[in-house]
Amino acid sequence: MAPLTLANLIDGQLRAPCTGAYLDVFEPATGTVYARCPDSDQRDVELAVQAAQRAAPAWAALSHGERAKHLHRLADAVEARLDEFALEESRDTGKPVKLARSVDIPRAVANLRFFAEAITQWPGETHADARAFNYTLRQPLGVVGCISPWNLPLYLFTWKIAPALAAGNAVVAKPSEITPFTAFRLSELAIDCGFPRGVLNIVQGTGPAVGKAIVEHPHIKAISFTGSTRTGAAIAAQAAQSFKKVSLEMGGKNPAVVFTDADLSETHLDTIVRSGFSNQGEICLCGSRLLVQRSIYDEFKRRYLAKVQALRVGDPQDERSDLGALVSSAHFDKVTTCIERAVAEGGRVLCGGEAVKLDGRCADGWFVAPTVIEGLPQDCATNREEIFGPVVTLLPFADEDEAVAIANGTEYGLAASLWTSNLDRAQRMAERLEFGIVWINCWMLRDLRTPFGGVKNSGVGREGGFEALRFFTEPKNVCIARSSSA
Ligand code: NAD
Repeated sequence: MAPLTLANLIDGQLRAPCTGAYLDVFEPATGTVYARCPDSDQRDVELAVQAAQRAAPAWAALSHGERAKHLHRLADAVEARLDEFALEESRDTGKPVKLARSVDIPRAVANLRFFAEAITQWPGETHADARAFNYTLRQPLGVVGCISPWNLPLYLFTWKIAPALAAGNAVVAKPSEITPFTAFRLSELAIDCGFPRGVLNIVQGTGPAVGKAIVEHPHIKAISFTGSTRTGAAIAAQAAQSFKKVSLEMGGKNPAVVFTDADLSETHLDTIVRSGFSNQGEICLCGSRLLVQRSIYDEFKRRYLAKVQALRVGDPQDERSDLGALVSSAHFDKVTTCIERAVAEGGRVLCGGEAVKLDGRCADGWFVAPTVIEGLPQDCATNREEIFGPVVTLLPFADEDEAVAIANGTEYGLAASLWTSNLDRAQRMAERLEFGIVWINCWMLRDLRTPFGGVKNSGVGREGGFEALRFFTEPKNVCIARSSSA
C-alpha cells in the first residue's frame, strides 16, 4: 500500500510543506514505512505565525464559554473516533493498542475537556486594603508555541494546546516527527469541527527545522516544551535571548522505593511492575530504579521477577500484548546499547536483556524484552542516565537515609513513588525527596488539577490545572485608589 501523505494545518487548511519534501514515518512493530510526514521549514512556521496573529484577537475576545464550546466539540470528535485513534496511535508508536485505547486517547479527550472547563472556573485575584483595591487581569499572550515528544503523542500534544487555547491564545504547535499521525488526524478534525481558522496551526517536521523556527520566532511569546533534557537546554538558551517564557518538561530517572512495611498485595505489585514497563518503559514517569529495603529484597525480587517474566511482548495490535515495539530503530539501538553498558558496568541481568524476535508481520519490528538488572552501584551511568526503555535496575537499601541518598542521587527530579504502610514515614520521605511529584502507594494516578512537572534537570515550571493557565497568560495588576487615599 502506498504510504499515506500527511499535511500541515495552517490558517484552517491542510497544506503541503513549502519544501515539498517529506520524512518517512515507520510502523515500529514492522519496521516499514507507512506514511510521509511534511518536512516543513521556517517558511511554514512563518505562514502559521501570520495566520495565528490574524486569528488571535478575535479568539481572545470570545467569552470563556465560547472557547470552551470549541474545545468540547474537538473532544467529542476525537471521542467519537476513539477506536480509530487508538489503532493509529498504536501503529505510529509501537505501543499496545489496548494501552492507546485505555490511556492515550481517553486522556487526550480528557485534556481538551478539562481545560475547556478549567477556564470557566478560574477564579480571579483581588487584593484590597484601606488605600486601594487591586485586581489582576490574566490576559492571553497572543501567539504561543507548543512542542511535544513521541512517547505519548496525542496525550501530550493536547495537554499543551488545550490550556493555551482555553486561555485565549492562538497556537503554533509541532508534534514529534517520529509520531506525527494523530496530530494530523486532529488537524482534519479541527477543520471538520469548525475551529476558527488560524487559531490552531500544526506544523509537522523536524526539531532543527520546525521546532527551532518556532522557538526563534519573535512573535511567538512563549514555548511549552516536553522532550529530552538536551533539547530543553537548547530551547532555554535560545529563548533566553528574547526573554521568552518557557515551560520545560524533560527527562527522568525515577525511583520507586519499597519499604519492608509496604502492603505488597498482588495489586500493588502489579502497579510496581507497570510503573517500570508500561508503554515499554517509554514514559517519563516510569520508575526505572527500583529501591527495595534489604530485609525483603530476596523475597520481593522473586515475586517481582515472576510477574515481569509473565509480561507478554507482542504485536501491538494483539489485545494480549503487554509490551509492544520501541518507537524507532535508533531508539532500539540506544536501549540495547544501554543494556550492554549495564553488563559492562558489572550488572547481572535477571531477566530479559535482549531483543525479541517475533514471527509474521512483526518479524522486523523493534522489540526488547522487559529487562531487570541488579548488582550495579547507584552512581554508575546506568543508574544515573535516562534509558527510556523496558529496563529496571534493582537496588537494595538499609534505611530511610540511604533510600533518600540513592533516590536523590541523579541529576533528574521528575517523579518518585513510595511503597509503605507507615504514614509518618511516607510524609517524611515525601518532604526529603527532590522530585516534583511523589506518589504514595500508587503510580501515575493523575488528577489534572494538580501541578505537574519536575525539578533539577527534569523541568522548569509546572503544567496542569491553573498552573498551565497561569503560564499561558500574562498577569497585569490594576490598582484603583479609594477616594479617601488619593
Ligand atoms: P526530543 O527532545 O528529541 O524531542 C521532543 C520534541 O522537540 C520533538 O517534537 C522534536 O522534534 C523537538 N525538537 C528537537 N530539537 C529541537 C530544537 N532544537 N528546537 C526545538 N524543538 C526541537 O525528545 P523525544 O525523544 O521526542 O522524547 C523523549 C524525551 O521526552 C525523554 O527524555 C522523556 O523523558 C521526555 N519526556 C518528558 C515528559 C515530562 O513530562 N517531563 C513527558 C514525556 C517525555
